Amino acid sequence: MAEVLVLVDHEGGAVRKPTLELLTLARRLGDPVALATGPGARATAGTLARHGAVRVLVCEDERFGQYLVVPELDALTSAHEAVGPVAVLVPSSGEGRETAARLALRTGSGLITDAVDIEPGNSDGDGDGEGPVVVQSVFAGSFTTRSRVTRGIPVITVKPNSAPVEEAPTGAVAEDLAVVFSDPATAARITERAPRAASGRPELAEAAIVVSGGRGVGSADSFAVIEALADALGAAVGASRAAVDSGWYPHSHQVGQTGKSVSPQLYIASGISGAIQHRAGMQTSKTIVAVNKDPEAPIFDLADYGVVGDLHTVLPQLTDDINHR
Ligand code: FAD
Repeated sequence: MAEVLVLVDHEGGAVRKPTLELLTLARRLGDPVALATGPGARATAGTLARHGAVRVLVCEDERFGQYLVVPELDALTSAHEAVGPVAVLVPSSGEGRETAARLALRTGSGLITDAVDIEPGNSDGDGDGEGPVVVQSVFAGSFTTRSRVTRGIPVITVKPNSAPVEEAPTGAVAEDLAVVFSDPATAARITERAPRAASGRPELAEAAIVVSGGRGVGSADSFAVIEALADALGAAVGASRAAVDSGWYPHSHQVGQTGKSVSPQLYIASGISGAIQHRAGMQTSKTIVAVNKDPEAPIFDLADYGVVGDLHTVLPQLTDDINHR
């Protein structure tokens, strides 16, 4: 059967959820072959095998911790040559998009970024069929496009929360991949790492539930009501640009056109009007709940459930209710 190469995103061997979603999509196109690199790569094998990887290629060379992107690109190139896949799937992180773009250039292939779904084509990789159809949400979510790569082996980056995580055990074990590394002089060296402050909350782009606050929250201190609800639900915290520009919450939590794109199961927009640039980052959420004191706020046009009220009253009541269940 045709093989689909999947680049694994993991932290010291703990596989991130978007990679498991990629395996679900990859199984629609063929047999997933996972590539894990860097410290802990070998430890990913069990999880990847449980979610459908028929092979797990690993390389733990120290260069992965020393340079940005290029060693991973070298590993992906070597895996591409070894496997001969019908498609390559990469998580749509900043690093993933750069690695994917460079791989497409190296292999002379077409690239499609930020897919929200993938449908199988009728290609077995021999060049006479048609590759997968890639679905994207474009122009701030105003249009859905369906396209396919017409040259080379498609390289596709996929946004988090685009597919369910499914178990499909295979019994695959880690296999060492021989990587041909390029000259490190061409790569950016990592000089320092600043560990992210641990909030204990899930990563915004990957979270199943996001509670976001906007200008209606009123101040940095008042974001405590957003955080309290987020903690009661095991959610990540998001913010509108108005809240971020006011200095109430860090830019790394901004949702929207110039922030992060999220697509959780549940998105709670509190004190957010629903400007097009905010919608661009959240309107593919499965269920949207809006809390706003203005019944005419545009966010209600998009919301599945709406509460007209003051968030400073509604959110603490909701949090209290959840915490006492
Ligand atoms: P407002 O539009 O001011 O809305 C506040 C809402 O809170 C109102 O609806 C009000 O009724 C409600 N409210 C007030 N008090 C309460 C209360 N006590 N309880 C309940 N409700 C209350 N925006 C983004 O969010 N993300 C982006 O990435 C982004 N990128 C942009 C890029 C460009 C190029 C441009 C031009 C704009 C961008 N914006 C972005 C800004 C966007 O246009 C809006 O200005 C912004 O989203 C508004 O944020 P807001 O909804 O929090 O504030």
